[in-house]
Amino acid sequence: MSASNGRRILMYDTFAECLAAFQEAEGHQKAIHDGMWEWVDQFGTQHTIKIESAKRKIRKTGVWAFTQDKKTIHLWIKDATIPLHTVVAVIAHEMAHIKRPWHRTYREEERKACEYEDIAYNATVAAELIIEKAANDGR
Ligand SMILES: [Zn+2]
Repeated sequence: MSASNGRRILMYDTFAECLAAFQEAEGHQKAIHDGMWEWVDQFGTQHTIKIESAKRKIRKTGVWAFTQDKKTIHLWIKDATIPLHTVVAVIAHEMAHIKRPWHRTYREEERKACEYEDIAYNATVAAELIIEKAANDGR
């Protein structure tokens, strides 16, 4: 799937395939090591949890993505039951990572992406409610 500016979104049928690509992708190897998974949240706080626990959480959420080389988004969506606002938020987060300006620190870059994610989530929830109301009103 092609996005704008020659950027692309690669879709995976399974989380395992997407995770394998993540582990092979340049710059992501240090996120998973010694059976632990490290990431930074929207507040810039670093978290470290067991990889099996992280996998369970991701499978439960049903959507996961990462960015490679500031131009390719790798995306896994479990199925059509995943809410649109959740999928949009995840894609927006990764699109933020391919959009300049790029921050020097991982924490600042993650904070930027989480801001995009939050805006996308709330905008999509609002749009869903507006469209639902219009449908209920028979418009
Ligand atoms: Zn991120």
